[in-house]
Amino acid sequence: MFTIGCHLSSAKGYRQMAADAASIGANTFQFFTRNPRGGKAKAIDPADVAAFQELAAENGITRFLAHAPYTLNPAAAKPDTREFALAVLADDLERMEATPHQMYNMHPGCHVGQGAEEGIAKIADALNQVLSPDQTTTLLLETMAGKGTEVGATFEELAAIIDRVELSDQVGVCLDTCHVWDGGYDVVEQLDDVLEDFDRVIGLDRLRAVHLNDSKNPLGAHKDRHEVIGGGHLGTEAFERIINHEALRDLPFFLETPHDTLPEWGDEIAMLKGLRAE
Ligand code: FE
Ligand code: FE
Ligand code: ZN
Repeated sequence: MFTIGCHLSSAKGYRQMAADAASIGANTFQFFTRNPRGGKAKAIDPADVAAFQELAAENGITRFLAHAPYTLNPAAAKPDTREFALAVLADDLERMEATPHQMYNMHPGCHVGQGAEEGIAKIADALNQVLSPDQTTTLLLETMAGKGTEVGATFEELAAIIDRVELSDQVGVCLDTCHVWDGGYDVVEQLDDVLEDFDRVIGLDRLRAVHLNDSKNPLGAHKDRHEVIGGGHLGTEAFERIINHEALRDLPFFLETPHDTLPEWGDEIAMLKGLRAE
């Protein structure tokens, strides 16, 4: 089954996200757990979750991906910044249990001049503090573009973090096509090789989700500027291969493309469905 959706606003709660997803032909969706720059999360309303579960079931929506605020930095050198990241991660993971067995995606962090090795150690330590054995949520580390001091732009760095996590069964990876391309992985001409590399370094069993984004920049640019599918340097044919690839086709795909309205994502989803071989 082709599991495809896009990033939605969570402002009106879970039920509305299921309704929005269904309205554009999506059977999954992603959302920010709170303001992307951090801040306090709205309390979860059990009635909204119940209404969501019902509407989701009616529309074949079985999974979604929550996204942590992207400014969280568990690798921060400043104690305050790191404490804040830990508190938000712990709170988000607790909130995720209102909808058990879903996925929570985070950017690993930025080492801000401490070096990747120290960044990796701090991120793994943060995960060891927030993960608990009874959590049903899978935490995903997103592949990054390598902008600034971002950790996680290579499969080796992600593997190094996961290696240090005690409850590593609860940790997976989300592959962002724009980010890996910007990070220097040629998913256009050498998709098989990139996925073989991923398998050798991290293990394809860790790969749980794909962010489907074209890129405004050339291979290895380390920029992280998303483009609509087919409008950037990856191109439509690359996405046809990606969504149909044996190693990827059963994963959920999430568009984070620059559109302003739901119908625009609906058109992009319809286009991708047309490229999907069943
Ligand atoms: Fe992200
Ligand atoms: Fe992404
Ligand atoms: Zn991005």
